[in-house]
Amino acid sequence: MKRIKVLKFGGTSMGSVDAIKHVIAIVRKPQKDARIAAVVVSAMNGVTNQLIEIAKCAAKKDIRYKKLLKEFKQRHRETVQSLTSKKDVFPWMEELFVHLENAVLGVSRLRELSPGTLDYIMSFGERLSAHMLVEALHERKVPCEYLNARSLIVTDEHFGSAAVDFEATEKATRAHFKKHPKLQVITGFIAATAERKTTTLGRGGSDYSAAIIGAALGAKSIEIWTDVSGIFTADPRLVPKAKVVSELAFEEAGELAYFGAKVLHPKTILPAMRKKIPVKVLNTFRPEDGGTTIVANFAQRRLKSHSVEALTFKRPVMAIHIASPEFFDVNGFMAKILEIFDHYRTSIDVVTTSVASVSLTVEDERNVRKIVTELAQLGEVSVERGKAIICAVGGGINAAGVAGRMFTVLGRHNIPVEMISQEAAGVSITFVVAARDAWKTLKVLHKEYIEG
Ligand code: ADP
Ligand code: ASP
Ligand code: MG
Repeated sequence: MKRIKVLKFGGTSMGSVDAIKHVIAIVRKPQKDARIAAVVVSAMNGVTNQLIEIAKCAAKKDIRYKKLLKEFKQRHRETVQSLTSKKDVFPWMEELFVHLENAVLGVSRLRELSPGTLDYIMSFGERLSAHMLVEALHERKVPCEYLNARSLIVTDEHFGSAAVDFEATEKATRAHFKKHPKLQVITGFIAATAERKTTTLGRGGSDYSAAIIGAALGAKSIEIWTDVSGIFTADPRLVPKAKVVSELAFEEAGELAYFGAKVLHPKTILPAMRKKIPVKVLNTFRPEDGGTTIVANFAQRRLKSHSVEALTFKRPVMAIHIASPEFFDVNGFMAKILEIFDHYRTSIDVVTTSVASVSLTVEDERNVRKIVTELAQLGEVSVERGKAIICAVGGGINAAGVAGRMFTVLGRHNIPVEMISQEAAGVSITFVVAARDAWKTLKVLHKEYIEG
């Protein structure tokens, strides 16, 4: 299965009749490099948020959910009708609506919304959009089949952000594609446990779905089609002068995605990186633009790059500081601290240490109170909310003077900086600022390194 590729279209690309027509044109275009074996799709933009709202309203017995459901159904009915010549109802769509309504009714009767039920309710967004694309492609005589990723991607039961069992997933995916040579139109974002319970891979997770499937198939490339022309030097919505970066190494793209660049789900890079499959980021609405290619050549990029190439931030995060004179003396403190975070499945983004203290940042606040109680047994704990992590990537980031220049500029703009840390191979520098300074920091550094 070598000369195949996997394409993924995001929420804006699936968000309207006009957008879906762009998707269809891309899928139908003869491909020179490899056959398109699978197209992974997100729900129409806004739909996942709507489904969450419907479920939450139902759990509170707030009858607004009925109106929201009506609008939801209307939008999907109108879209599929405009994409095809059939003006009647589509039985598969009506059936999905009945299943969704039953689930929502159950939530409202029980006044309870479990994470598992929410994942099930969210799954309707991707199921509907994948079905709609199949319908539109069939109308245009493109042979293809609908595929619910529940039968490919196997996860644990961590609803809302499930962890993938890569071995089982690869086995199921390869077996499926062996039997189904036609183009597969696959639901992004959703998966299932071995016991067939529906799970999701985390918000924005369709990128990750495409990477998981592409990696399982040993694809030639994975293409992420979105609403911007690649990965920019900074979020183009925040920094209008940002430019597309035509090539990035896996390590750089991984850091950017992890520290807030929404264009890629943070976990997307890993499956592709393990199998050295290039990931391209392309614009559905400007397919002629070159986009960004993410490849396995950080060593080479280092030779060409001499400073910062792209910037991002993540906010809000909280900083947790643990201080104890015992750190001088006792081994294993760090391990104990990390164990506590691990126990509560709370991931740490930045860590800095001194002889008598450790500082960390976390984004997920849910278990912080319990974590702090346990940390208090190790030392004095303080928590600061309202922080942001800034991350700068580029092949030459550890070259002489880069860090010096960075912090001198920020000093000139009166932006206090803490918890500075540098990735060992020189991929990135991350540091923490007050959340209110994040945007200013990004603009100042973008001007200094990229515009200047
Ligand atoms: P999709 O629905 O296609 O998955 P997303 O909204 O998740 O699209 O991601 C695309 C958006 O990511 C862009 O519209 C852009 O505003 C945002 N973004 C943030 N950082 C960057 C960056 N460095 N480069 C490009 N886009 C970025
Ligand atoms: N529809 C999902 C979300 O909004 C997944 C995705 O768009 O990638 O989070
Ligand atoms: Mg996305």
